[in-house]
Amino acid sequence: MEEKSDYYQVLGVDKSADAQTIKKAYRKLALKYHPDQNPDDKQGEAKFKEAAEAYDVLSDENKRAQYDRFGHAAFAQGGQYSGPQFNNLEDIFSAFGDIFGGHSGGGFFGDMFGGGRRQRGPAKGRDLKIQLDLTLEEIDSGLKRTINLRRREHCVTCSGSGAKKGTGKSTCKTCGGRGQVARNAGFFQVASACPTCNGAGQVIEEPCKDCKGSGGSQESAEIEVEIPAGIEDGMRLVVRGEGDAGPKDGARGDLYVLVREHEHRVFQRSGPDLVTELPFSFGQLTLGTKVEIPTLRGKVEMSIPPGTQTGKVFRLRGQGLPRLESSGRGDQLVRVYVEIPKKLSTEQKRLLEEFELLEQESHGKKNFFERIADHFS
Ligand SMILES: [Zn+2]
Ligand SMILES: [Zn+2]
Repeated sequence: MEEKSDYYQVLGVDKSADAQTIKKAYRKLALKYHPDQNPDDKQGEAKFKEAAEAYDVLSDENKRAQYDRFGHAAFAQGGQYSGPQFNNLEDIFSAFGDIFGGHSGGGFFGDMFGGGRRQRGPAKGRDLKIQLDLTLEEIDSGLKRTINLRRREHCVTCSGSGAKKGTGKSTCKTCGGRGQVARNAGFFQVASACPTCNGAGQVIEEPCKDCKGSGGSQESAEIEVEIPAGIEDGMRLVVRGEGDAGPKDGARGDLYVLVREHEHRVFQRSGPDLVTELPFSFGQLTLGTKVEIPTLRGKVEMSIPPGTQTGKVFRLRGQGLPRLESSGRGDQLVRVYVEIPKKLSTEQKRLLEEFELLEQESHGKKNFFERIADHFS
């Protein structure tokens, strides 16, 4: 039999240490030698297990009393050690999970331990995802939308238990009721949900005829979803508890609503602002004019001052979309540009030529390139 270290020495506590001190000492060691902190450290792993073993004995009044009287011999039978044995981390966590905050279901160690550990008990129902197409007008006003979907509901006959009326459940043979099975992952064994019972730890003896033991069926449902005004393309709304019913006693999953925005004929969106491009004639921009501008909520009158250059952007305050995270609305940005006529009547052509002649005279008979040179000088 392998020589074993003194449990008090392992934890580094006095023989008279109280329960609180022992717990604290173990917690410290467990953190120090935790395999996630010391990957590929065989010695660290041994220390981690050794500390767990010492704590198992010293935290139990009876075992501690026996150990105090007989030492390691207290747990030796026929030369074989028969005390606590921890073959893998899962054993250690399920034995002492509570001192790390929360029973074996994670808590203190759960985060450190990553994906290997799963919460025991009934699993949550599946989350559902749907896409919702909205027009800019709908986004502008915000709305309630009734969504029709199919989702899993508990079987009425067996109330979701999956078991035939009058029959019960028995402990799962694959995992022995633990709900988890261990598999080797490098140094350590990692626990995952039992494939036979899906983590429930129990299996039904005789399945319900209506749902064939699944405990559920697909049913149609109508769910009202409230869409806040100003929501943007690609955003996701979460409706808690409107997903699939959980297996057996598990909670419902959630419903995710992905928002897609229809492209608008007139407006492009830029956050809460709306952008419009409007064509004008050369004469309108040169002389100035008043025009009616389309907005999402009707028309507004806008003055174009004389001498407005093509590409100029006007801002109509408060004519955009509602701001999602604050009050008020964005603006509408109106970009004006000159539309060049492709066909002219004889009269239009004559007048334009006349206009162009006058233009050249007013520029001192300089040609186009000379005028550009002036512009940059
Ligand atoms: Zn059923
Ligand atoms: Zn199982």
